[in-house]
Amino acid sequence: MKPLDLDVFLCRTDNFGVLVHDPETGLTASIDAPDADAVIAAADRRGWTISHIFTTHHHTDHVEGNLALKEKYGCEIIGPINEAVAIPGLDMTMSDDDTFLFGEHPVRVIETPGHTAGHICYHFTDDKLLFAADTLFALGCGRLFERPPADMWHSLQKLAVLPDETAIYFGHEYTLSNARFALTIDPDNERLKARAAEIEALRAEGRFTIPTTLALEKETNPFLRAGDPAIRRNLLMETKTNEEVFAEIRKRKDNF
Ligand SMILES: [Zn+2]
Repeated sequence: MKPLDLDVFLCRTDNFGVLVHDPETGLTASIDAPDADAVIAAADRRGWTISHIFTTHHHTDHVEGNLALKEKYGCEIIGPINEAVAIPGLDMTMSDDDTFLFGEHPVRVIETPGHTAGHICYHFTDDKLLFAADTLFALGCGRLFERPPADMWHSLQKLAVLPDETAIYFGHEYTLSNARFALTIDPDNERLKARAAEIEALRAEGRFTIPTTLALEKETNPFLRAGDPAIRRNLLMETKTNEEVFAEIRKRKDNF
């Protein structure tokens, strides 16, 4: 089986568009549809035709292009059952642990409530690809608009058990700000310091920080590290639960 081909581009201001193309079948999925014109331009550059949209959650900057793309391509729109009413043009709903095939590539849906109540991630299990949208960012996690911190912590734990080598594609280029914040939480983490320096250099050149890997996030992302003794010591929260430590880190980031 030929590997999937990915095309990543920035659109709106800081949203990532991602196209996933299966060369065996010609299928092409747009992960969310932040901007129809940008998705069409990316597809045209590659000579691809959009067959699917895999929607992660209902926010406008992830679904605004749905209807225009459906009009142009007649593509099938898949999305979270718990936000079905808020997603334009939805054809098929998915809930936790649902699986389907994209060509011959198995995809598993992981519900990750937190940023929104029904947010889902798409895990291409054999390809070791995760499309995490606004649940897990490089060195960050999504803001908690619709669910309490404990729910997001548990959602992130569902991602943390995936294989270390999983490549993670996320929804926004927020990594520089996330890195600067992470250093305030975990200032003695050598791996984080090195990564933050790499990110400063990448962004200074106008380059993107996508994708990341789960291994890297587990070593450096404070939102996955609420159980880390050094972080708990820094926050004076050594006797608190992981959920409480996570909530404190999220609150600090909201005010950063
Ligand atoms: Zn969002």
